[in-house]
Amino acid sequence: MEKLLEVNGLEVSFQLDKGEVQAVRGVSFSLARGETLAIVGESGSGKSVTALAVMRLLQHPGRIKGGEICYDGIELTRMEEKGMFRIRGAEIAMIFQDPMTSLNPTMKVGEQIIEGLRWHRKMGTAEAKARAAEMLKRVGIAQAERRLEQYPHEFSGGMRQRVMIAMALSLNPKVLIADEPTTALDVTVQAQILELMKTLQEETGTSIILITHDLGVVAETADRVCVMYGGQVVETGTVNECFRQARHPYTWGLLQSMPRLDQPRDRELQPIPGSPPDLYEPPQGCPFADRCPYAMHVCYEEAPPLTRLSDTHQVKCWLEDPEAPPAEMNQPFAW
Ligand code: SF4
Ligand code: MG
Repeated sequence: MEKLLEVNGLEVSFQLDKGEVQAVRGVSFSLARGETLAIVGESGSGKSVTALAVMRLLQHPGRIKGGEICYDGIELTRMEEKGMFRIRGAEIAMIFQDPMTSLNPTMKVGEQIIEGLRWHRKMGTAEAKARAAEMLKRVGIAQAERRLEQYPHEFSGGMRQRVMIAMALSLNPKVLIADEPTTALDVTVQAQILELMKTLQEETGTSIILITHDLGVVAETADRVCVMYGGQVVETGTVNECFRQARHPYTWGLLQSMPRLDQPRDRELQPIPGSPPDLYEPPQGCPFADRCPYAMHVCYEEAPPLTRLSDTHQVKCWLEDPEAPPAEMNQPFAW
């Protein structure tokens, strides 16, 4: 499949008084046209920072320290702000967990959608207004013309997220980055929004990067998965590879902490004990070593190499080393 976006060896750090936080440490992934890639991991794993770096929306003191972000043949890390202004929103759009952070509370919803269409697509007011109404209808908002005249606070949480999606997709972006788009919503609305994103993707062919900590959401919507831990991608593969043939102990932990439909509701979920690594001074070995039940001596000394298990499946873990103890007894359960 043709690659639309390629991130290679991305490094992002935040220079703070206490020192430098190395939030993203050598992250690589690609996104094909029409594909949905999920980036999963606990909070603080570097998922959102990676997304903001792709959008070139990192706020001071965050900065891209190294690596490349290649979108449709264009290198974005060194692009000047003027060029990014044309790409952001129109080519690569982003929606956030809380739409209130990206909707302007003092502007009518319609005006906000129309503004982007006028600026990026050079539409006249009437055409832009018609397009805005059409987009609200497409995301399932009734009485679209009337709703365009309302302010964000007049919409419920789920409806606001629909407005955000309408706004993001009104410009026909080739890539949509959705950062925890349904986390703040209740389960029913969450399912509706995910379904809506899937339908719109089928209609428009937009590629999606879905950032989430919820593996249930991943199973529902993604084609491929990147599992992030401590600012690195520790495992990547198709949904099937990451769910049924996961090889990284952190991925096993995530799977165990995920509620399953076929299990009694009172089954206790097992959160992964311990806390993520200190990114002021990232460990020299495997970032998961302190929490990993299978950690070996080498894990504390040296960072594990990337092992290719298939064309799509890659993992960073010493258990894949031919000299490591057999790993088959390690996986806590067969998925
Ligand atoms: Fe665990 Fe070692 Fe693999 Fe890291 S490299 S996940 S510590 S076994
Ligand atoms: Mg986040």
